[in-house]
Amino acid sequence: MPDSPRQFSLNSHFLNPDRSNLEDIRKLGYAFVDLIVDSVLDTQNHPFVKDETAFELHIPQQGQELLELLSEVRSQILPRTVNFQNPRYMGHMDSVPTAITIWADALVSAVNNNMLSYELAPIFTEMESQLMQWFGHFFGMGKDCFGTLTSGGSLANISGLLLARNWKCPESKNVGGSGNLVAFVSDAAHTSFEKAMNVIGTGKDNLVRVPTNDRGEILIEELEIAIQQAISQGKTPFFVAAIAGTTVTGAIDPIQAVGVIAKRYDCWFHVDAAYGGAGIFTPKLKPLFQGCELADSMTFNPQKWLWVARTCAMLIVKDRQHLVDGFAGELPYMDDRTLNFGNLNLQGTRRTDSLKLWMAMKAMGIEGCRYLVERSLDLSHNLRQWVDASSDLELVCEPTLNIICLQSTDPQLSSAALRQQWIDEGKLWLSLPLWKGDRILKAVVLHPYAG
Ligand SMILES: *Cc1c(COP(=O)(O)O)cnc(C)c1O
Repeated sequence: MPDSPRQFSLNSHFLNPDRSNLEDIRKLGYAFVDLIVDSVLDTQNHPFVKDETAFELHIPQQGQELLELLSEVRSQILPRTVNFQNPRYMGHMDSVPTAITIWADALVSAVNNNMLSYELAPIFTEMESQLMQWFGHFFGMGKDCFGTLTSGGSLANISGLLLARNWKCPESKNVGGSGNLVAFVSDAAHTSFEKAMNVIGTGKDNLVRVPTNDRGEILIEELEIAIQQAISQGKTPFFVAAIAGTTVTGAIDPIQAVGVIAKRYDCWFHVDAAYGGAGIFTPKLKPLFQGCELADSMTFNPQKWLWVARTCAMLIVKDRQHLVDGFAGELPYMDDRTLNFGNLNLQGTRRTDSLKLWMAMKAMGIEGCRYLVERSLDLSHNLRQWVDASSDLELVCEPTLNIICLQSTDPQLSSAALRQQWIDEGKLWLSLPLWKGDRILKAVVLHPYAG
């Protein structure tokens, strides 16, 4: 056949067993390295977003030349991305990933093992098991703890609620019908709890949101009143969560006190530490995690405050048996004498994110995690002092973590307008969350060179 350039080329896509294209595949990899280093990482002084024009999809009939495609990404796609490398971006819980986890993520893709079952990922099944126990022990969840990585904190929360439902009503796993159950979280808790109640069939209306104080910490007396009220209406409380690092203000609920109440009313106790969990690495915040030993399950996202490239989140359980009971199904096409994570998880096929997390923890060490967490707390303190010193800004509440909530005090300039002005000037990129009925400004100080 004539070798026309428009013909599909196997050699561009897979390594040829005769190794004739080894150097071409290597060259493609190096081109990616250059693209990532020059056009993604080396952009600290570039705007938050360069190009806001609309994107138009065009899938060609014939495949494009790969290096040409990379240069299209460089010129057409990257300018439209949000530039988290800019140290003045501090809007949401989006960190710049550490270098090791960027490359580790490519390695995960290349190895492409599958967390569905042991036989498809033996080393990573071991690695994930041991990592989950390590984190469980780190949070004080006892000797029988276990867990699973999930693709995000929402999925971890959904999984936690499902385990709780199946623990409280074991028959609901087979017959559904858990509409009499009722769950309790604070009014500052993440919206994934509504999603979870929808998914597990208990219904969003059976999620009670308990009032918080002005920092966003759950009011313990209100929690108990709400539980008693539900009982008096003939409902069955089954789940109570404490939030360690709320999504808007970064508040940490009194974990111990919430846990004691959960246990008093025979409820599953979940700690949502998706964001705040990394705080346990510093002695400055560690005391706030007292009570995690009461938790039946816990969510933690290293993809947020531990600078691990997405995705990397986990659900830890106090008792491994809960994971087994909660999910156990059958994988008829797999060797069932081994530990198969596909039976401990809502997901089936799953990336081996454990490799990335393991490399991150090995590269940073516990002391490195502590250093980075404390550094971000210090940088957020600088921002806080700048707000305190400013005549037309004020703090919305005392910060707990590296999240600073502020607002404009200038009657001529709303917080929303001020935010836009700062973005237009390239001064700061803050988010504009709704907090107790008002739009406020939020800074999540994660960039290690923020400011
Ligand atoms: C971010 C967050 C979540 C959700 O995590 P995703 O990874 O975005 O799904 C849940 N709870 C809290 C407290 C969070 O901050």
